[in-house]
Amino acid sequence: MNKQDLIAEIENLKNVITDASISIWNNPEISGEEKFSSDLMKDILKSNEFEIHEINNVDYAFYAEYGQGSPVIAIMGEYDALPGMSQKKDTKHNPVIEGGNGHGCGHNLLGSAAMGAVLAIKNYIKQDNVKGTIRFYGCPAEETLNGKVEMIRENAFDGCDVALSWHPMNVNTPIYNSYLANNSIKFKFNGTSAHAAAVPHLGRSALDAVELMNTGANYMREHVIDKARIHYTITDAGGPPNIVPKEAESWYFVRAPHRKDVTEITDRLIKISEGAALMTETEASHKYVAGCYEMMPNKVLFDLTYKNMQELKGPDFTLEELQFADEIQKTVSVHQVEGDINNYKILEKYSMHKNVVSKEVAQEMYLTGSSDSGDVSWILPMNCFLTACWPLGINPHTWQATSMAGSEAGQKGMLYASKVFASIAYDLLNDSSLVESAKKEFSDKTKNNKYVMPLK
Ligand SMILES: [Zn+2]
Repeated sequence: MNKQDLIAEIENLKNVITDASISIWNNPEISGEEKFSSDLMKDILKSNEFEIHEINNVDYAFYAEYGQGSPVIAIMGEYDALPGMSQKKDTKHNPVIEGGNGHGCGHNLLGSAAMGAVLAIKNYIKQDNVKGTIRFYGCPAEETLNGKVEMIRENAFDGCDVALSWHPMNVNTPIYNSYLANNSIKFKFNGTSAHAAAVPHLGRSALDAVELMNTGANYMREHVIDKARIHYTITDAGGPPNIVPKEAESWYFVRAPHRKDVTEITDRLIKISEGAALMTETEASHKYVAGCYEMMPNKVLFDLTYKNMQELKGPDFTLEELQFADEIQKTVSVHQVEGDINNYKILEKYSMHKNVVSKEVAQEMYLTGSSDSGDVSWILPMNCFLTACWPLGINPHTWQATSMAGSEAGQKGMLYASKVFASIAYDLLNDSSLVESAKKEFSDKTKNNKYVMPLK
């Protein structure tokens, strides 16, 4: 098989990949509940001669392996949905179940493209007796930012040489600097309850502490780096107002481009919580819900991904697919669409991005979300790319993205992603110097900057 034959394998597998993405889209499961989705993928991989390895202590996590020896290439798949994102394949907001789960981040496409790629690569390894191993990683609970961190804790990625990942988006590009490091942390205050009218002087309000902590955090905003993000909600504000609240709780996310900044800001936030407790004579405690790293860029893999994305060219959408996407795009403001067009420096005039952005734009681009994929990039060389599965102006975690993730245009973006994976893997299997250079770059960058698991 030459590279073109391997890419053609993806077309041969089109129905398997598309059917999996539709089944998972029709059965949206939130983080930590992905039984149907992971079973479906395991069944397909098992019936295609892959050996399934379960990951201890992480529900619905596994890897499927085929081949012998090095390089060992990991392709990562995810399959969790989001609560409240239920949506039919429609151009207006139309939930399947009001308030139900839905694939607003397109992980049905994410997992299926990755699975399709390993099936094609396996056919190549088998037919041509190629030396090397391909692994599909079934990664649950990405939306709660803990699945891959827990998999790392269980040494699930041991033995891999490089990891490849992608995400459905509104643009075709590899990403370089990406994902904000994140801490998700809950602050709990314990006070003394009392009758709020009869003996308020005996009460010490836990809600007062929550409010004072939020005030302190809001004053801190002025004195953190520009790119940091701090957001919170009050998850327990006490009970009825005629009782001084004994317990109250807030939930914070701290994000920044580098893990060290997140750690530093979190430490300051903990001091603020202690200050609020001191002021109110309550007790403060905190619990880490999740934490993750930013993505460590790997120039070797970035360049390789860019080259292959350009060679393959972006997906070619039909008139019908474009019309559906046009209607979806009309549901958001023109400014939102223009913002994407300007940011990505896009010259074409279609709702769906068809080409690959310029290399300069790709290298400068920054995804402001957070992902536990970042953590994998700190334990082995990794790269991630995006393909256009929904129109410019549309963001993930919206009903529009759910709708597109179940549409033909979304599936085209997914098949393009499968082809990009297959092409990169072909190069890695045929040129060992690429794997060696990616690993060298990784070890140089992490020599004095080792991964420290954010789970506490
Ligand atoms: Zn996502």
